[in-house]
Amino acid sequence: MASLSENPEALYGDVIMEHYRSPRHRARLERPDAETEEFNPFCGDRANLQLKLDGPAGSPPLIVGVSAFAEGCSIIQASASLLADGVHGRTVDEAADLSQLFRDLMQGKPLPPVALAELGELEALEVVRQYPVRIKCALLPWVALEEGLRRLR
Ligand code: ZN
Repeated sequence: MASLSENPEALYGDVIMEHYRSPRHRARLERPDAETEEFNPFCGDRANLQLKLDGPAGSPPLIVGVSAFAEGCSIIQASASLLADGVHGRTVDEAADLSQLFRDLMQGKPLPPVALAELGELEALEVVRQYPVRIKCALLPWVALEEGLRRLR
């Protein structure tokens, strides 16, 4: 197997490298409704997530603000950026569903086309399954998300 440092681009693909180089939703929110942080002491990865809810009265509130800040390898940074893009504009329940789909993807469960369409660009992270030590890196921002969603309920 080629080492990751040789050419991460060729191994991980364009979507991951694009989000790694230009992460989305990194700006901090002023008054988040939930803020969570997860840390992996084994590789030093850290993910901090802020969520803000709003929306018209009488319907489930939407995640109108999301800030995802990650420190560590290219995978955690790309995953945090893709997560932020993915949950922005969704309800808490929809974000929880997306999180479950992402876990299914990372566990190698076969997903129907409708689920893959729901995941969108997140499907690019499936490549990480080839590097098992990195799966934890990909999932860390999602652990922070799930804790944040739990607090918002
Ligand atoms: Zn990592």
